[in-house]
Amino acid sequence: MPLALDTPLTYLKGVGPARAAILAAKGLETIEDLLYYFPFRYEDRSNLKPISKLAPGELATVICEVRSAKVAGFRRRALGLFEAEFTDSSGATLLGKWFHGAWLADRLTPGARVALFGKIELDSYRGELLMMHPETELLSGDDEDGDNSLHTGRIVPVYEAAGKISPRTLRTLLARAVDEMPELDDQLPKEIVHRLKFPSLTDAIRGAHFPPAGTPIHILNEFRSPAQFRLIFEEFFWLECGLEIKRRKAREMPGIGFQLTDRVREQIKKLLPFKPTGAQKRVLGEIAADMAHPSPMHRLLQGDVGSGKTIVAAEAAVIAIENGYQVALLAPTEILATQHYFSLKPLLQKLGVPVALLTGSTPAREKAKLKDMLRAGMVPVSIGTHALIEKDVEFQKLGLVIIDEQHRFGVMQRLGLVQKGVAPDVLVMTATPIPRTLAMTLYGDLDVSVIDEMPPGRKKIVTRHFTADQVELAYSAVKREIDLGRQAYVVYPVIEESETQAMKAAQQMYEHLSREVFPDVAVGLLHGRLGAAEKEAAMEAFKSGRTKILVSTTVIEVGVDVPNATVMVVEQAERFGLSQLHQLRGRVGRGGEQSYCLLITEKLNDTGKERIRALVESQDGFVIAEMDLKLRGPGEFFGTKQSGLPSLKLANILRDPDILAHARNEARAFVEHPPSHADFAAAVAYIRGHWQRRYGLVQV
Ligand code: ADP
Ligand code: MG
Repeated sequence: MPLALDTPLTYLKGVGPARAAILAAKGLETIEDLLYYFPFRYEDRSNLKPISKLAPGELATVICEVRSAKVAGFRRRALGLFEAEFTDSSGATLLGKWFHGAWLADRLTPGARVALFGKIELDSYRGELLMMHPETELLSGDDEDGDNSLHTGRIVPVYEAAGKISPRTLRTLLARAVDEMPELDDQLPKEIVHRLKFPSLTDAIRGAHFPPAGTPIHILNEFRSPAQFRLIFEEFFWLECGLEIKRRKAREMPGIGFQLTDRVREQIKKLLPFKPTGAQKRVLGEIAADMAHPSPMHRLLQGDVGSGKTIVAAEAAVIAIENGYQVALLAPTEILATQHYFSLKPLLQKLGVPVALLTGSTPAREKAKLKDMLRAGMVPVSIGTHALIEKDVEFQKLGLVIIDEQHRFGVMQRLGLVQKGVAPDVLVMTATPIPRTLAMTLYGDLDVSVIDEMPPGRKKIVTRHFTADQVELAYSAVKREIDLGRQAYVVYPVIEESETQAMKAAQQMYEHLSREVFPDVAVGLLHGRLGAAEKEAAMEAFKSGRTKILVSTTVIEVGVDVPNATVMVVEQAERFGLSQLHQLRGRVGRGGEQSYCLLITEKLNDTGKERIRALVESQDGFVIAEMDLKLRGPGEFFGTKQSGLPSLKLANILRDPDILAHARNEARAFVEHPPSHADFAAAVAYIRGHWQRRYGLVQV
């Protein structure tokens, strides 16, 4: 009986209850799950040679037997250098060496048969052939693990081990699953399969696991064989179809069509303290057009730190207010909310519009009063943290929600607020200049506006790196600027696990700086443990210039706007993420003066060095974000769970942006002009059934 896709894996030969449990822990429960567990790389083991025919420099696969093995000499014991000598029927011998390889001792015992794959070298000391860290597979005689011809003498797929299940066993299981799988039902629209000359789904699955002989190995490892291309395309295609359908549905929902009257235009003009840049004008145009459209806006406003998003948000707010609606601005932290409050209040005050702040630390009585006023529609603009989206907060007429996201708000939280009003317009702001294709996938149902131009007169911020023993140099640079009448930030990292300790460090730093280094300068301190009033006081003192140096934990990462501050000192800079450092640097260089960012590091590894170098060399948030993404990977960069980042099986957003763009175009065209109603209905049904399971995305 052929296996069905939903057959539990226990029905596959070689999977008993123990292995099934291990596989299930990896999310592999059915034949289909296993078929979509793809190799992460491929090895060309077709060059199978006896030891006597090997030559230094070549990549080869050798089937041989362990003659002797040991953890080498005591001076090397710390490295656990494991050495084995191998031989085969040619009678010649080959050495294998593994640093930290002591764990191999109970596997590579004399007599064991193994397949080694790797580069052949010459051990110049002994004059023998050698492989350093070859890929090693034990060849068990028992056919549990399949025929050896599956593992050698061909291109072989390499799988990530699942618990105790080795890559080799997985290869065996996959070979069986592929052999016994039914003809798969190809869901991709036929027209696309034909036009793009894709292999059938069945062939693609087979080819991705067991590529046809002669496929160039580099193409496989770049994931661009026809089989891989099709599967990656398909994954993106359904994701993008789903997002596109969602986007269109959202556009059909009844929303508010704000009037853009002359009075609105006048009020916006009154608001502006400066001439907007071309980019600011353009994005406001896009936002205004969305707001005028009688369906809810879902727009992402992307702009590097310092590009001037605040004024754009204020302009959007004015459109809503002038139409008699309320505006809510949501920030991920209390300090950020407070900072938005401080920057928006004076702007809107010019128009006589009151602004309220509601955070977790707003006193209960005040909070209650505020809620009453919000419900009565008496507060046109409210700014806050999650406290603003608590269940008991009601708005009389919420028309516009602005979310300062910074990747810290999950999709669900976004929804919490949206459901408060009758489909209000939503504007999400982010300072992380992620590549546009990525942004559109992450925020798939959002339209994207980009501020890609800095306000005029900005000078390049001079960025310098100092090691801890050069800290005096950094401090004297600070002193020079203060003598010139400017101000400086000194930032300290907060590590979540030991926040108290970090506070202590900031406190000590503050005392050290104010007493010993800058005894004649007014120094302020700002950190997360201060009460709201103290925080406000510390910020106000720095803003007004009463304090010249502000010692702070990362809380000033985003949002502070003090044009007279020209120096940003970051202590233990190696502890910050690259994008975070870029955000911090964006706190200075906001006026016309030359500004400086001084990065002080204590311990730097190689990646750390690369990161610091990237910052010293580039000031383009886009370049820096890409670098950060590459160094950290998308999961960590976006903080996976919160980001709503889809979990993909074979597709990789970083590796495959070209296929993503291609698939998105096809998906949009398909949704706009499906070949037939039946095709479209089938696609919707397919997405509905697979959305959650495939992408781990929430269906809304
Ligand atoms: P973002 O929120 O994008 O990081 P802000 O909105 O805080 O940036 O703006 C950064 C600084 O630039 C602020 O001091 C702001 O007043 C100023 N600014 C913004 N737009 C302009 C402009 N068009 N011309 C001059 N200065 C501007
Ligand atoms: Mg609208």
